[in-house]
Amino acid sequence: MEPEKQETVVWREDGMPANSRFGDVYRSRGLQGDAGWSQARHVFLKGCGLVVDESTREHTGATAWAHAPRWQVLETGFGLGLNFLATWHAWREDAARPQRLFYSAVEAWPPEAFDILRSAAPFADLIPLAQQLAARWQGLLPGFHRMEFEGGRVQLTLAVGQAQPMLGEMTGQFDSIFLDGFRPRLNPQMWDLHTLKAVSRLARRGGLAASWCVKGEVRERLITCGFVVERVAGLPPKRHALRARFDPSWQPKGRAEAPALPLPEKTTPRRCVIIGAGLAGASCAYSLAHRGWQITVLDRAAEPAAGASGLPAGIVSPHVSPDDRPLSRLTRAGAQATLARARALLTDGVEFAVTGVLERHAPGERRLPAKWYSESETDAMKATTYSAEASKTAEKAQQAGVPLNETDLALWHEQAGWVRPAALVRSMLAAPGIEWNANQNAHRIELAPSPDAPAWRVLDDSGAVLAEADLIVLAAGFDTRALAGITLPLNALRGQVAFGPMPGGPHDAVLPLFPVNGHGSLISHLPLQNGALWVTGSTFERGNARAELHDADHAHNRERLAELLPLASAAVDSQWTDGQAKAWAAVRATLPDRLPAVGSWDITLVSGEAEAATHVPPLQLCTGFGARGLTLTVLCGEILASWLHGEPLPVERSLADRLRAGRFNA
Ligand SMILES: Cc1cc2nc3c(=O)[nH]c(=O)nc-3n(C[C@H](O)[C@H](O)[C@H](O)COP(=O)(O)OP(=O)(O)OC[C@H]3O[C@@H](n4cnc5c(N)ncnc54)[C@H](O)[C@@H]3O)c2cc1C
Repeated sequence: MEPEKQETVVWREDGMPANSRFGDVYRSRGLQGDAGWSQARHVFLKGCGLVVDESTREHTGATAWAHAPRWQVLETGFGLGLNFLATWHAWREDAARPQRLFYSAVEAWPPEAFDILRSAAPFADLIPLAQQLAARWQGLLPGFHRMEFEGGRVQLTLAVGQAQPMLGEMTGQFDSIFLDGFRPRLNPQMWDLHTLKAVSRLARRGGLAASWCVKGEVRERLITCGFVVERVAGLPPKRHALRARFDPSWQPKGRAEAPALPLPEKTTPRRCVIIGAGLAGASCAYSLAHRGWQITVLDRAAEPAAGASGLPAGIVSPHVSPDDRPLSRLTRAGAQATLARARALLTDGVEFAVTGVLERHAPGERRLPAKWYSESETDAMKATTYSAEASKTAEKAQQAGVPLNETDLALWHEQAGWVRPAALVRSMLAAPGIEWNANQNAHRIELAPSPDAPAWRVLDDSGAVLAEADLIVLAAGFDTRALAGITLPLNALRGQVAFGPMPGGPHDAVLPLFPVNGHGSLISHLPLQNGALWVTGSTFERGNARAELHDADHAHNRERLAELLPLASAAVDSQWTDGQAKAWAAVRATLPDRLPAVGSWDITLVSGEAEAATHVPPLQLCTGFGARGLTLTVLCGEILASWLHGEPLPVERSLADRLRAGRFNA
């Protein structure tokens, strides 16, 4: 039986939103229902110096974030999002706004999109922002969710879960801290010493915290945590609000991680060379260029996406597991990140589409435990899939021409679809600040001989210098191993797909409008300039690092399609004999734990280099994506850039740590 759904937000007759669990209102008590924005501005934005105090304008003049390259705001209780919307609005209005705004917030009980819109409804200027937020408000399962606005210049990281553990999973050095939440009497955990200690671990020295809560115990705890606390004028009728500066008299221990390299904040952009113009290289290039790096991408091929990323089309979909293991959580965040990037850069319906994906397994295949289908209303299932209602899955299976029987295992992924990876690579490489150089075969990486030169050099097999840079990212798929050293346990996994033209006429109708994935996969109705395409595959051959075509694989792909989708297979079957069905193959790179390798990597240095290496940014890797590059590379590019810059991560710290390339450094 489905558990009774409890509405989180209840709208009272006076227009005030209240929380059903805490029995408290979302605005400070004593304020009118439409005073939310005033409270956000007065208590939080003014408290942290992010809007100019009109009364003292002559004296203060500038906002605290004026001209900063980035600004990081932490909020302990996201609620209905008014503080976020008010901060975003203030950022838009401020001519001296920081280049990038990171807003990280915790929320144990996310409201519905409808509640966000209703809460912002009295404030005409906030409505368009609330609409953008509401449009991204989906699939908010426990864990971290990254939402990008303003072309990536405003980043919201929503941590869904209890404050203390979620704060422990955050990274960053926050400049402004909004201490918000239901009243201490009703929600004591939010204001206890453990939570405030977790907050202080994330505060930048000199950063300001603000709150409407001026309770004596809370002030004392903040002082214990290293804040210098003062009471300031509150928003009438409240007499006081709280302002606190993080300035401990001791050197704080257990800080959230420092940036991997000391990055000057305001100097001229520095140079980065990326080897490999596939999805991994282009994703890193895009994320770093956004942070002001001058990027050169080198590839030995004549065109971008010449390796595995040249796949005609691939599926972007989360992996599911009964225990919601790290790969599942990462692919959930990754699918969101890839589809958001695709929405920003590609043509919908032509280069990508969020069609939903049907995952279907034959009885006896043990990828999904049987209970996932037969007990589809269980919490376990709800916790690990976006839209897993059995009826939707059954409806989609019916549409795909493979009605389910009781022993079939299937799942419908709503937030999933297909992408043309080469189009995504090309559009990311076209971003400002990125230069792409063809026919550059990198053979060796070395440290520059002189400390005056940029730290790293890339050489070809004749010893000629191809490029010099302050930072190098190796994103050369399986060939990263040759450049990074053999201690990186990358394995080659050759794969082949088959593709052909849509059969046309009534036959088209039996090819599903969304990808079907299972033991083999089919993506169809892929528009081309003339006509449309279907793609099926793929094969897996361990240990073969050559992108060669095999007849046996072609036949195998034909057989597997017949098993996965018999009707669709029959509609295109003649194409295997008349030569219309073509094959494409490439090499994937995999690692033993099936997770990619991202971030700093120690290479063996020749004598004389070792000393110099202490002063240079470590070599960076981004590889090992196996069969999930479309789903994971965009996310990993962001993780790599966030680590380098000491920014809030788009996923939980513990999850990102599992990807560290250094786990393979002996
Ligand atoms: C058949 C098949 C089907 C797939 N289906 C899917 C799918 O449906 N969904 C999904 O998520 N993923 C899928 N994948 C996986 C996905 O394609 C890969 O994970 C992803 O493309 C890897 O990207 P990459 O940038 O790491 O590597 P690549 O795209 O291989 O890029 C590496 C680049 O490095 C360059 N390079 C290598 N060595 C050097 C050097 N020494 N100097 C200069 N340049 C160099 C290469 O020319 C290449 O351009 C599939 C893969 C295959 C093979």
